[in-house]
Amino acid sequence: MARILLVVGAAGSRGGRRPAPDAWRAVPETARPILRELVLHGPQSRTALARSLGLSPGSLTRLTKPLVEAGLVVERGAVPHPVSGRPTRPLEVVADDLHFVGVTLTSSHVYGVLTNLRADVVARESAPLADLAPETVIAQIGEVAERLSARGRQPVAIGLGMGGNARTRAPVGEGELIDSGLLGWEQVPVSRMASERLGIPCTVRNDVTALAYSHLWSKQARGLTDFAMVTVGDGLGYALFLGGRAVRLTEAAIGDFGHQILTPDGPMCPAGHCGCAGAYLTKSSLMMTAAQGMRRFPTYSEVLELAGAGDRVCARAVQRAAWALGVLIANVVNNTGVRTLVLAGEAIDVARVARPELERGLAARHRNPEDIELTVQAHDFHDWARGAAVVAIRRHISDH
Ligand SMILES: [Zn+2]
Repeated sequence: MARILLVVGAAGSRGGRRPAPDAWRAVPETARPILRELVLHGPQSRTALARSLGLSPGSLTRLTKPLVEAGLVVERGAVPHPVSGRPTRPLEVVADDLHFVGVTLTSSHVYGVLTNLRADVVARESAPLADLAPETVIAQIGEVAERLSARGRQPVAIGLGMGGNARTRAPVGEGELIDSGLLGWEQVPVSRMASERLGIPCTVRNDVTALAYSHLWSKQARGLTDFAMVTVGDGLGYALFLGGRAVRLTEAAIGDFGHQILTPDGPMCPAGHCGCAGAYLTKSSLMMTAAQGMRRFPTYSEVLELAGAGDRVCARAVQRAAWALGVLIANVVNNTGVRTLVLAGEAIDVARVARPELERGLAARHRNPEDIELTVQAHDFHDWARGAAVVAIRRHISDH
């Protein structure tokens, strides 16, 4: 039986000495890996840093000195070494004076967070979308960002996570113009419009890839390099990380992922495929399946509640969806070799409510399901927004 872990996002922040506003620009290329390592993995001793970066202790001391003098890195109080017991003074990046906005879009809302350099969330906001016109949405992103930036916490960059158009043969954010199936957008210069509205650089990324980055930048994922994320909601999402890097997936490839055929005689999806993953799993598919037995159209949460209460029709619909999710996970593992799967999204509860069926689907298509580690994330769209902030932070660190 695969292990299933429950994860709830966590955040915190600490005070630090204030670096000069342009200190990042002055950092020499050779010293940037030290900053990246401290941003990604938190405070570390000089010995640990030198080991992970393959530097001699002398080189590390030389490269670190200007970072400390510029106020970008501070030495924390002495702590005993876990093995030798000798006191060490861990180095820590000063993260609390640099702020980033992360925003994610659904078809009805904009969700935003403000984070520090380590992607600790310090504020969150959301707003219902007045309409889906690009100008309206960008203006509302600007309003959310302004509310997040209150009390002098001016952000230096914004990341925006959004789904693309499954017909588009490019990843979202690659190139200037964005097509969004969910919002009905075609060839919208999202990044430029948001940058102009906010006066800071904007990086656009596929929202599931952004959420996967948020997972990668969490304590639970320490040391994780190879994993896949599958999200279930209005549609299916997919992201794959190998060697700590996101595999480049076009929007068309993500669309194909959600429409892969699991059983040739299964239910039909809106695109006309019989037995594709989406036909079993998406919110509307689950509601449609339950509606056929109930002779009325239930809400998604109603289907899950009734299934939990033992209603035969709803339980059957949820079980079928969970079984399909198990098969889908097995396909990912069989085809990529990754053993760690993160499940997320607003309709991922089928993985909890009907776990035995998920296990059955997994075991039907994979030889060693006990080797697979499944993490089911508690759903919160602000986690998606945090992922967009991570995208902006990565860009900021790389560009400066
Ligand atoms: Zn389909």
